[in-house]
Amino acid sequence: MTLDELRQLVRSIPDFPKPGILFRDITTLIGHGAGFSAAIDHLAAYTKEAGGQAIAGIEARGFIFGAALAARLELPFIPVRKPGKLPVPVLAIDYALEYGTDTLEVDPGAVEDGSRLVLVDDLIATGGTALAAVELLRRAGGNVVLSLFAIDLPALGGADRLRQIGVPAAALLKFE
Ligand code: IMP
Repeated sequence: MTLDELRQLVRSIPDFPKPGILFRDITTLIGHGAGFSAAIDHLAAYTKEAGGQAIAGIEARGFIFGAALAARLELPFIPVRKPGKLPVPVLAIDYALEYGTDTLEVDPGAVEDGSRLVLVDDLIATGGTALAAVELLRRAGGNVVLSLFAIDLPALGGADRLRQIGVPAAALLKFE
């Protein structure tokens, strides 16, 4: 399946979650078996090229792509979780949202020291979420060598912000 065909599988929903936002929804992409598998093939090629040794996925939609990618390549999967979910002492990072803050947590025992990590989420917009995840994984001892997204909204600058902190970013699809 070509990237153009994959692009047709993304659904765009106006005014979600609030007026003025055009929400790019991957539900329809993962709901297409061949499309989902092709997306994972593409992500796997990037991961192999970067020499990734483990996949870190951001809750919740980053788990969908990240876990499938990890299983495809038989690599460990590290969940980067929303607060209060992990049953062990965690490393946590707060980060700014448009209004207020949010928190991400990781089990430091899940990250092998110096391991080459590939960070995965469904979509990158401003990059705030991914930058926080990179910082958290670095504090846990990981070496984030690549960040992968199904969708990039380049106008919002997130991928550029990742590159500025030394993390290459790649996305299967770009939407203006
Ligand atoms: P950022 O932190 O501004 O880069 O926003 C990225 C985070 O918000 C990711 O975890 C995405 O899942 C979510 N997100 C932002 N915009 C969209 C969208 O249009 N569709 C799906 N998820 C989105």
